[in-house]
Amino acid sequence: MNKWVYAFPEGDGKNKKLLGGKGANLCEMTQIGLNVPPGFVITTEACLNYLKSPSEGLPAEVMGQVREQMRLLEQVTGKGFDDADNPLLVSVRSGSAISMPGMMDTILNLGLNSRTLKGEIAQTGDARFGYDAYRRFIQLFGKVAMGVSDELFDAEFALVKESARVTEDVGLSADNLQEVCERFLELFHSHTGRPFPENPYEQLELSIKAVFNSWMGKRAVDYRHEFKITPDMANGTAVNVCTMVFGNRGNDSATGVAFTRNPGTGENRLFGEYLVNAQGEDVVAGIRTPKPIDKMDQEMPEMARQLAELRDRLEAHYREVQDFEFTIERGTLYCLQTRNGKMNAPGMVRSSVEMAAEGLIDREQALLRINPLYLEQMLYPQLDRNVHALPVAQGLPASPGAAVGQAVFDADRAEHFGRVLGVKVILVREETKPEDIHGFFAAQGILTSRGGKTSHAAVVARGMGKPCVAGAEGIHVDVQKREAYVSGQLIREGDVITIDGSNGNVYFGAIPTVEPEFTRELNTLLQWADEVAYLRVMANADTPEDAARALKFGARGIGLCRTERMFNAVDRLPVVIEMIVAETPEQRQHALDRLLPIQRSDFRKLFETMSPLPVTIRLLDPPIHEFLPGEEQLKDEIDKLHHLKDSVQGLAVLSGSLMMLSQKNKADAKIPEMVDVSLIEEALETKILMLRKVRDLNEVNPMLGHRGVRLGITYPEIYRMQVRAVLEAEAECAAKGIEVHPQIMVPQVCSAQELKWVRRYMDEIKASVEEKTGQQLNCRFGTMIEVVRACMRAESLTHEADFFSFGTNDLTQATFSFSREDAENKFLPMYNQNEILRDNPFEVLDEKGVGKLMQLAIQWGRAHKPDLSVGICGEHGGHPASIDFCQRAGLNYVSCSAPRVPVARLAAAHALLNNR
Ligand code: ADP
Ligand code: MG
Ligand code: MG
Repeated sequence: MNKWVYAFPEGDGKNKKLLGGKGANLCEMTQIGLNVPPGFVITTEACLNYLKSPSEGLPAEVMGQVREQMRLLEQVTGKGFDDADNPLLVSVRSGSAISMPGMMDTILNLGLNSRTLKGEIAQTGDARFGYDAYRRFIQLFGKVAMGVSDELFDAEFALVKESARVTEDVGLSADNLQEVCERFLELFHSHTGRPFPENPYEQLELSIKAVFNSWMGKRAVDYRHEFKITPDMANGTAVNVCTMVFGNRGNDSATGVAFTRNPGTGENRLFGEYLVNAQGEDVVAGIRTPKPIDKMDQEMPEMARQLAELRDRLEAHYREVQDFEFTIERGTLYCLQTRNGKMNAPGMVRSSVEMAAEGLIDREQALLRINPLYLEQMLYPQLDRNVHALPVAQGLPASPGAAVGQAVFDADRAEHFGRVLGVKVILVREETKPEDIHGFFAAQGILTSRGGKTSHAAVVARGMGKPCVAGAEGIHVDVQKREAYVSGQLIREGDVITIDGSNGNVYFGAIPTVEPEFTRELNTLLQWADEVAYLRVMANADTPEDAARALKFGARGIGLCRTERMFNAVDRLPVVIEMIVAETPEQRQHALDRLLPIQRSDFRKLFETMSPLPVTIRLLDPPIHEFLPGEEQLKDEIDKLHHLKDSVQGLAVLSGSLMMLSQKNKADAKIPEMVDVSLIEEALETKILMLRKVRDLNEVNPMLGHRGVRLGITYPEIYRMQVRAVLEAEAECAAKGIEVHPQIMVPQVCSAQELKWVRRYMDEIKASVEEKTGQQLNCRFGTMIEVVRACMRAESLTHEADFFSFGTNDLTQATFSFSREDAENKFLPMYNQNEILRDNPFEVLDEKGVGKLMQLAIQWGRAHKPDLSVGICGEHGGHPASIDFCQRAGLNYVSCSAPRVPVARLAAAHALLNNR
């Protein structure tokens, strides 16, 4: 016989696939002696088995085991299921291997019917409590198990409240609640065509089926799709049946949720919220605004002490920050759920460093528990502190970071503006629900007027690393009219607002934001990462400012400086153009002579900034026509100049006539000022020359055309100037006693002959600079590997090159024969959707194809030069999965954009630890 059901004391707490995360942890907590209400788990296997043919109902074997467990529950609790005198009530809860907050439903107070209700009332001596429990059960059961919509129940509820003239639920009397129950039962009957089931086992069976079915419900399916949860990660949901405990039994009862540490900052202090005299759902739903957990010290000190103890035991056991649910029933504390806390990046970083210091985890665990991509969050903008703006509303700081955007008031509009129109939006809602999730994806930040730090909006935003302000009560949203009122002022859809999720402030208009500072904990953590990692993380940086930023982020050198970026500055472009349109080598040399000192000083500043770290300079790469205006633009300008010339000549005629007239009338006539026609003619000539050059330079396939080293060979003056600028800059630094390590790198190489050619310039210029300056130069010489043939000829390239740097953007284009822009705009999305290609190879390094080429090139290169240094400087260099590959492939360094450097540093440590 298959075992489909496990009691909490017997289930394996490590087996989340079988028992679901919630179930496994309920078992584990029970087994380590925490106070969990007795219960049992029906496995995910039972779910999958049932879902094969739902029409056949729950297999008898499963229900048989459930009944057996219910009898055990009756024994331990001393109560009876369907016992009119002392009824056993349970909750039926879902939970799969991966937590999907709010995606599947829970039924509370199951076991109530007209008989047991009387027993419950007699037992507790509290009629109000009994009816309150009953009406909750009818609604939850009606909704979850039978599909009766919440709104119908809510409308009935509102009617009773209205006739009783109360505004708060707590104001309702037992009689009022009894009326609610009666109305609910009628509603249930009229809506489902059957009376409310009185038999608790029937209630239980229907509920279990409903939870199982919810696994294939639209909400859950969409969620799994969006978060890429594969069957491999979570397959089916378990059902947890758990004895009810009541936080709504009076003022010595309460319910709450808490994190063992602050999930926003990581501070080592219990963080959470609770409500006195309430049931669990009330906290999460944001119906009443809960109190911060700190208040418990005064309100119920003994409970606060027990809660602190629970916190310590959870952390000591799980060695991870826990997010847990608790209920206090008449002075007894129960733990109803725990899971690893979802924290944002600052929280993760600080708790990692502190837990390691406390000896709860070791440094490796401290590094491994943080997803490197998460660190980007810490580099999110904050509001500029120097700008003093008055907030118009204040809510709870629910997820840190600042966001600016246009207000939208529902998820569909957010998606439309944010995703379709590409506008930055803030999603503003009274409260959010799981079905709003697409709005979160499209928004910069979330603002709600109801709910606490553990409300749906807060939890989801934190998970996504988006700023969120929750419970800003001064805001009233009118979804229909697409507007909101904030302290008497109107915000229309599209009005720009700013939210600060770090302190809960809301502002009208756009408040300037600034880059955040590195925290001390982040520095510590990344130092640990550097100590562990083998791969060295360098940055792509083109200017001294970029370099300074890269240093701040912890780059250990520059792996790619694109010299063409230096050409594009306004003061340089004219000289570059002059160089390109030059008709003779002498003219070209003239322009290059002016560029040389500019480049030399660029390089010198870069070297000084990075000293003593290596700086890799790539010689000119793009096709040179990229520096010239387009053909259409030039034609247009030439037309205009022709017109202008005509007009000016016309003006000359006019002013001649005016002159005559003014002499006749002896009056002062205004004579228009003249433009010299010869100036226009000169401009025309240059433009015509440029147009001719643009046409000359026109290429069918510029990316496969006259660029990179091919340019360096056909126009040797250009590369020679750049090489000279690098070497002279090195000599200048050396003269000042500044230690520098320049490296020159040649792009687009496909044959050793090309490299030899450029190396000759280098050797010759080096000798001349050394002689002139008397400095000994140590500049190294290397090649990009971004052409398929270069991979094949790797061995012979090592005869000329001291190092290899993979340019994986071009290499990916070349390997697939995809031009990136065309691929991403036309067919890649469909390829990805249909899994013809699982990932976009321009984002995730294609290990099987491009990676294979890289491995061959490394193998062949090192065959001749075993200590050949190899790096990567494509965008992939900042992607954790690609960094993992680089580790396995034996690279020495990765280079990526400056803001990605922290991510790459942590990823490099992960790469080593995960591949030991
Ligand atoms: P979710 O996955 O949405 O958190 P849960 O199954 O944890 O769903 O339950 C929803 C709410 O009901 C929670 O607040 C939880 O603490 C509460 N709850 C669940 N089971 C019980 C129980 N046996 N006694 C008291 N409260 C419960
Ligand atoms: Mg739920
Ligand atoms: Mg829960």
